[in-house]
Amino acid sequence: MVVKTKKMVVGPVSENRENGSRIMVFVRLRPMSRKEKEAGARSCVKIVDHKEVYLTGFALETDYLRFKRIQGRHFCFDTSFPEPTAQQEVYTTTTADLVEGVLQGRNGTVFCYGATGAGKTYTMLGTVENPGVMVLAIKDLFFKIRQRSCDGNHSVHLSYLEVYNETVRDLLAPGRPLVLREDKQGTVAAGLTQYRAYSTDEVMALLQQGNMNRTTEPTRVNETSSRSHAILQVVAEYRVKDSGNLLTRVGKLSLIDLAGSERALATDQRTQRSIEGANINRSLLALSSCINALVEGKKHIPYRNSKLTQLLKDSLGGPCNTVMIANISPSSLSFSETQNTLHWADRAKEIKTKTSTMNEEVTLMPESETDQTKLVLELQKEN
Ligand code: ADP
Ligand code: MG
Repeated sequence: MVVKTKKMVVGPVSENRENGSRIMVFVRLRPMSRKEKEAGARSCVKIVDHKEVYLTGFALETDYLRFKRIQGRHFCFDTSFPEPTAQQEVYTTTTADLVEGVLQGRNGTVFCYGATGAGKTYTMLGTVENPGVMVLAIKDLFFKIRQRSCDGNHSVHLSYLEVYNETVRDLLAPGRPLVLREDKQGTVAAGLTQYRAYSTDEVMALLQQGNMNRTTEPTRVNETSSRSHAILQVVAEYRVKDSGNLLTRVGKLSLIDLAGSERALATDQRTQRSIEGANINRSLLALSSCINALVEGKKHIPYRNSKLTQLLKDSLGGPCNTVMIANISPSSLSFSETQNTLHWADRAKEIKTKTSTMNEEVTLMPESETDQTKLVLELQKEN
């Protein structure tokens, strides 16, 4: 049996994605909540033509009812989604291309950044009625993989983990912290559950359960704020026939719901949460340092400074298609968080990732069905 492994260097996931393999940056504005309206908030964000974000000149002064005027600022992103945008549109614009890439054997990463309450979990997980990017991506993967698999022999595996207080935990099997180690696929969490999924229906329930296992702590900012970074990894594998060869394609999609990016100052500084806040900041700070180093084209990128950046190493600087969704609130009460998020997102636009590579195994085509079954078994043994 001849099994050749080839790593093919290919271009960006979609030819019409401008600027090649730089990170794609999107902004999503959520609707104003009733609570914010009742607190006297005004809208301080305007989206123009699905591109431009205009942060208007209202800032909270000292109490919740007085505003001072400050100069407005324009930001421009790949796409900016106004309040009423449907989950499906967000998925199609931000992530569908990456799913297509995964099916071609390339890795992809989407991460949501923003303050607590800005809409990260809604965008990523969503609700049963309005499922988010995680669920829509898996649904799309299942649909396409079944269409394209030449022998019905395909698999979709899920892993769901959190980084909290510089500790990595399995959200599908809560227990002892996991240890990170390097292998040829990059940084992996040893012993992490790889759940084989068979249908989209079971995925929502599984992820909701996983999300309930996420570490949340009551803080002054938001009673149920998520203090952890949650990472869903989806590995899809299937086989296609191509000019007499049997190709095994493997692609990984990472979907990341980051912890709230607001400053630790807004939370209780004197208790456990100040240590925790420092660690959340450490991860996000490390992420910012890596982004700065990547933007400046530095040789050394400080991935090792936090668990989060160790896990994101492949996604930021590696051969991967990467998308960032910055979530913002329209409320003048969240002006400074929104301003920080937009500055951060603006900076992230400058990151260039390495050219995407294809993970593909080429096998000589067997002549009969019996041989084909044998081949599949042998490939499984090798894996
Ligand atoms: P985060 O994860 O950033 O802390 P959430 O996703 O939990 O924020 O959103 C906070 C609240 O706002 C939730 O009640 C959520 O349902 C609601 N929400 C967020 N984004 C949207 C949206 N685009 N449309 C409708 N409701 C939203
Ligand atoms: Mg959340």
